[in-house]
Amino acid sequence: MKIVLLGPPGAGKGTQAKELAKRLKLAHISTGDLLRQNVSKDTALGKEAQGYMNKGALVPDELVSKMLIERITRADVKDGFILDGFPRTIAQAETLDAMLRDNKMMIDLAVYLDSTEKVIIQRLSGRLVCSKCGANFHITNMPPKINMVCDGCGSSLYQRSDDKEETIRRRLDVYKKESAPVIQYYEAKGKLERINADLDAGVVLDEIIRLAK
Ligand SMILES: [Zn+2]
Repeated sequence: MKIVLLGPPGAGKGTQAKELAKRLKLAHISTGDLLRQNVSKDTALGKEAQGYMNKGALVPDELVSKMLIERITRADVKDGFILDGFPRTIAQAETLDAMLRDNKMMIDLAVYLDSTEKVIIQRLSGRLVCSKCGANFHITNMPPKINMVCDGCGSSLYQRSDDKEETIRRRLDVYKKESAPVIQYYEAKGKLERINADLDAGVVLDEIIRLAK
């Protein structure tokens, strides 16, 4: 089973993807993690990405795609994967399909986590991120065991500067504009399922699992 998780920032993609991977025994592939891993392991692709990041530029799609190809051809992906954070644009969706075709794979299901602006703002404005491993916590919904310290690696947590209300609204506008064609793309292929992601995380998880079966 190969699943893509779509949805605006704050819809819970990361949390859901991690749980789904465990429950469905699939590989969790997050392009954010993939990028961080390549950079920290200083791979050839990571070095190239670092060059863009040093200049404050976005890492190009082509480079992210190369990291994805390398990842989806590893042994732990043979039963499938959950892709989180990709594709964000129609160009990325097409790249992904071409890449999968080359490896005799295809996306089986695209899940759109649909969340209202009000809930997203409530979630994101309380979000805390680990400065080292990137794990997410929440001031009220998922507080760390020790105040401002990561449960996983013990590093300090911080609030991202783009998790402020006004910035969140802007990010949501950008997301809506970019993602509408991606949603249509999967809808046209008959692969899209929409889920109300304002609901409790456990309810959303069960719903995705039901769709994946
Ligand atoms: Zn951590």
